[in-house]
Parts: sequence; structure tokens; C-alpha cells
Amino acid sequence: MFRIEEVEHRYGDRTVLRDVSVELTERRVAVVGANGSGKSTFARLLNGLVVPTSGTVTVDGLDTRKDGRRIRAKVGFVFQDPDLQIVMPTVAEDLAFGLKHRGLSKADIDQRVEQALEDNGLRDLRDQPAHLLSGGQKQRLAIASVLATAPRYVVFDEPTTMLDLRSKRQIARVMAELEQPVVVVSHDMDLLEGFDRVLVFDEGRLVADGPPDVSIAFYLELMGAC
Ligand code: ADP
Repeated sequence: MFRIEEVEHRYGDRTVLRDVSVELTERRVAVVGANGSGKSTFARLLNGLVVPTSGTVTVDGLDTRKDGRRIRAKVGFVFQDPDLQIVMPTVAEDLAFGLKHRGLSKADIDQRVEQALEDNGLRDLRDQPAHLLSGGQKQRLAIASVLATAPRYVVFDEPTTMLDLRSKRQIARVMAELEQPVVVVSHDMDLLEGFDRVLVFDEGRLVADGPPDVSIAFYLELMGAC
């Protein structure tokens, strides 16, 4: 469970999140808002990539300010741009990379890599150079590499923004089948089908928080779309 208490965040003298307090306990939480409204900063707070200027963020009782490493092991993070996440030359090597610093045996790593290839439809790409993959394949690899580490939670920051429709649908399917609770920042309303709760940010404030139909109607009105 994520608990965000009276959080403010500034980059330099610019305040990008203010007065945010919220507890996230649902399985599927989405975060929407205009560009620059603070969504990505909020997502990064959840695994300690960003530590709040004031206020506290805890994950299962661990404070991101003190327990960053443990929290990053618990909370997988998928970036918008998979190129930021893929670090090894081939698909299989990239899947193994995140597992190598976790004290697992080689046999265990190999087994998890094979499972990740299978689960994410990447078997045929096993020994392909990662840089030659399509955008959708790269994002599937980035997600598979995060999932291979068996995180307790997964945070996605606009995972489909750079993808075509077909790849978006594949990612939506992967997300829908996840057992872990997820928090997803997205503009993509298709991706948010079946979500339990939607948070709406505007200029750094949490301005709506509720079931998808209510929050999304609020968001569309805020955007001047209806
Ligand atoms: P969103 O995801 O809703 O687009 P962000 O959290 O990415 O919002 O950004 C909120 C504001 O903070 C934007 O004005 C952005 O330019 C600024 N910002 C984001 N990251 C940084 C950073 N590392 N340094 C300085 N300003 C940043």
C-alpha cells in the first residue's frame, strides 16, 4: 500500500506538486492530467526515484526517504521510453540483468529469463539485439525485465505514448493480466478500462479522485472536451 502524506515537491524554485495526501490500496489505480500537471513526478515518488521536498511517502510502511533501495526492489517502474530502461545488448541478457544483483543462482536466473520470454511473447526474439526491436517489442521487453524481478507493485509512466495501436493493445493485455497491484499514468483511455480508481492532477494538485466514470468525466470537462 502507498501512503502519500502532505507532499509538496519542487524542482529548484518551481513547485510541481502541492498538498497531495492520498492512500492507494486498490489493485488498479490510474493517474491522468494535462502535460506538466505533475503526474510523472507523482509516479516517481511511489518508488523513491523522486523524494518529496516535504511530506512523506511510504510503501508498506517503508519511507522512501530512508528505505529507497528496498522500495525500488518492491516497486517496479516502467518508463514511457523503453530505451531508458533497456541496458543490455540482447533480449535475454536484458531480462537477466535486473536479476543478477539479487543473490539468485544462475539456474534460477536462467529459469526466470525463460519464463519471462514465454510470458511476454518474446521467445522468438530471445537472442535479437535489443536495439533492432520495434517500439512495441522494446516496451514489452522493458515491462518483462521489470516483471522478471517479481516486484510487489508495478508503476507505469505513460507506457503506451510512443506506441502504435497494435502495440498499445498488447501492452493493455499484459497489464490486464498482471497479478500485482498497478498504478498507471496514462492519457490513453483505452488502457484504463477496468480500473478501480482514477486520480486527476491539475497544476500539481490532486483535483479529483474516484471511480473511473466520475473522475474521467471531471478530467474531460477540465480539458474542455465536453
Ligand atoms: P506530467 O507527467 O504531468 O507531464 P511532470 O511531473 O513530468 O508532469 O512535470 C511537472 C513539471 O515539473 C513540469 O513543468 C516539468 O517541466 C517539471 N519537471 C519535471 N521534471 C523535472 C526535473 N527533473 N527538473 C526540473 N523540472 C522538472
